[in-house]
Amino acid sequence: MVSEAVVQALKQYVPEENICLQEPMAGHTTFRIGGPADCLVELESEEQLIRVQNYLNKVELPYFILGNGSNLLVSDEGYRGVVLRIGSGMNRISVNGCELTAEAGATMAQVARVAMEHGLTGLEFASGIPGTVGGGVVMNAGAYDGEMSQVVKQVRVVSRTGESMELDNETMEFGYRKSSIREHCFIVTKVVFQLQTGEREQIKAKMEELVARRREKQPLEYPSAGSTFKRPCGHFAGKLIMDAGLRGYQCGGAKVSEKHCGFVVNAGGATAKDVRRLIQDVQEIIQDKFNVNLETEVLFLGWE
Ligand SMILES: Cc1cc2nc3c(=O)[nH]c(=O)nc-3n(C[C@H](O)[C@H](O)[C@H](O)COP(=O)(O)OP(=O)(O)OC[C@H]3O[C@@H](n4cnc5c(N)ncnc54)[C@H](O)[C@@H]3O)c2cc1C
Repeated sequence: MVSEAVVQALKQYVPEENICLQEPMAGHTTFRIGGPADCLVELESEEQLIRVQNYLNKVELPYFILGNGSNLLVSDEGYRGVVLRIGSGMNRISVNGCELTAEAGATMAQVARVAMEHGLTGLEFASGIPGTVGGGVVMNAGAYDGEMSQVVKQVRVVSRTGESMELDNETMEFGYRKSSIREHCFIVTKVVFQLQTGEREQIKAKMEELVARRREKQPLEYPSAGSTFKRPCGHFAGKLIMDAGLRGYQCGGAKVSEKHCGFVVNAGGATAKDVRRLIQDVQEIIQDKFNVNLETEVLFLGWE
């Protein structure tokens, strides 16, 4: 529970309308699932972030950094603490030559579009990824042979103790759907992309082609968090799940997509428990049948 004293203190750092109490997380995740966070604060600048963070550290309240919630399964009980959202309040983008700088709350689609408008190539892969630039760096998001590690030049982060610093590409230690940011619990506030000049019409055509491929292959008509599982070494999660006969397998409102078995979707009224149970069932069956450990790509918030 967040006390009235905490709310009063937060009002010194962010506008009152940016503070929401008992905020249903279902409204902030692409799964459209998740119980209430005690408090959600929409941030508008790095300065606000540092001031709020310093205060929460001082009063020892837990907090979680949220982007677009497109890789998260929040429990039905929600989150006991403060969710700090870095989203549309922090989404300024600027371009200087071949460098594009974006605040962490800009969406991947926005940076891809601005790059295209400036005749800059490199971010076409990002146009269909429904996350923020901050979440994209943390996860080293990627698709169709492109990923953040190929285009990120520098990342501005804030440490859990409120110091800001600039990290270069190497320091990020990008790997498959990971970076050093999560290990250090850093918070991304700004990203500089190094792009190349290209032909605007070609860039636009590439983006449209990739979005069309997604629409054809992925169950975008249902809420989900994208690929539920990481690609296991030497296999494809979706193929293993299909081969195990789990296409359309259902737990309550959660379902293995019939269109793409690597996606668990909210087929209607799914609870977080339904999704979790389905994920565990799939993991157990794949382990038994193929002796393959399916690790989740989706992250969990608010679970014991
Ligand atoms: C339909 C669909 C398709 C998808 N396709 C792809 C794909 O092709 N490729 C791919 O890689 N992913 C894909 N995803 C997954 C998801 O979009 C990515 O993982 C994305 O990078 C997550 O960004 P986010 O802003 O939504 O992060 P969130 O889900 O909000 O958070 C994810 C993690 O990042 C942390 N985080 C978020 N912002 C920050 C920040 N500013 N600073 C520090 N930590 C932060 C959070 O604390 C959390 O640990 C897809 C998802 C969906 C729903």
